[in-house]
Amino acid sequence: MHYFETEFIKYKNNELFIENVKASDLIKEFGTPLYVYSKNHFISQYKKFEQAFSEINHQIFYAMKSNFNLSVINTFVQLGSGIDVNSEGELFRALKTGISPSKIILTGVGKTREEIRLGIEKKVMMIKAESEEEVELINRIAAGMNVTAPVALRVNPDVDAKTHPYISTGLSKNKFGIDSSAALSIYKRRNEFKNIQFTGIDMHIGSQIASIEPFVEAISKLSELYFELRDEGLDLIHFDVGGGIGVQYNNEKSFTIEEFAEKTIPLFKKLSCKILFEPGRFLTANGGVLISEVLYNKQNGNKKFIIVDAAMNDLLRPTIYQAYHHIQPLQQHNERVDIVADIVGPVCETGDYFARDREITKTHSGEYLAIMSAGAYGMTMSSNYNGRRRPPEIIVDRDNIFVSRSRETFEHLLWDEKII
Ligand SMILES: *Cc1c(COP(=O)(O)O)cnc(C)c1O
Repeated sequence: MHYFETEFIKYKNNELFIENVKASDLIKEFGTPLYVYSKNHFISQYKKFEQAFSEINHQIFYAMKSNFNLSVINTFVQLGSGIDVNSEGELFRALKTGISPSKIILTGVGKTREEIRLGIEKKVMMIKAESEEEVELINRIAAGMNVTAPVALRVNPDVDAKTHPYISTGLSKNKFGIDSSAALSIYKRRNEFKNIQFTGIDMHIGSQIASIEPFVEAISKLSELYFELRDEGLDLIHFDVGGGIGVQYNNEKSFTIEEFAEKTIPLFKKLSCKILFEPGRFLTANGGVLISEVLYNKQNGNKKFIIVDAAMNDLLRPTIYQAYHHIQPLQQHNERVDIVADIVGPVCETGDYFARDREITKTHSGEYLAIMSAGAYGMTMSSNYNGRRRPPEIIVDRDNIFVSRSRETFEHLLWDEKII
């Protein structure tokens, strides 16, 4: 088998380390399943992004749905990031870091009245509207509050991001955004919306996008709309590109942030407004691992299974997106043979797997596996299915170990529940 390593999560003397901390030492203290994050990976990714776009007027809004651990959000806030929030619950979490609401974007295809009201009351930087009805509602709510709400329209540019269909959002058959011509007519009706100020134009075409072309195509399409609006006398102050930049989960082809910047900056330079980015996965995915104990090896007919103590409720991506996560032992045993096996969890679902027909070094019961690239859409998509407690989240910063969230207790699972 091959090993997947990053600058901050790699093997030293055949032992997997997260920064300067040996993974197996963390298990002794915290047990498994266990999420571990490298703080300096997050910092390094953020700085790379910042650096790549340093020549243009821009702002990063971390998409916290990829990893909403408070310490993780706060790491980005401390670096100057804004936050893209998708719900009232995310807004609540974001504000816990002490970030100014003027650095928060309120996103969401189905915002409730209460979410819109709250966004206006907290004075978020802008509310992203995804339908004409929503624009009308925002206007009514803002009128009732006697204020003007800053609004951007999320435009669906109808480009194929060529990613997994479940994480493609920029095609007109997807539920997201407003098509260009409808958006144009809403912007044109701006005088009817007395309590809205249109501040920007927005897109987000999908996630884990592996090539730059769809971005270039979408930015070009939206730029046309931007210029049309300018001719109409509407000067927008920001152009929001969304997130979606793909990362490497294995050795698949990808692009660097520098290449992305090189291809897009010329397009941005034509616009006379601030460029906003909402990266999620790019900042967090490869900063996390999910560590799990091997419980059993078994064979049904020709098929081998490695049964581990983590499950789909801890990390859902393999089963819902057929996503690849590299899986490797905490200790490299170069003398051992490789086997081909499914790596599965204890949950009563056929979909409870992390890998199928995966080539992996033979591991024995009581040894440990690291499920790599689990820093994005891992813990945030976790659940208590099968009565399972969510794992702890540990943050490593060089030699230092922080418990950002402890393992849930069984009492958490019963929270406020009564027998009638
Ligand atoms: C999910 C999401 C993002 C982040 O996507 P990544 O693929 O993690 O970069 C950004 N903006 C919006 C509107 C989103 O829904």
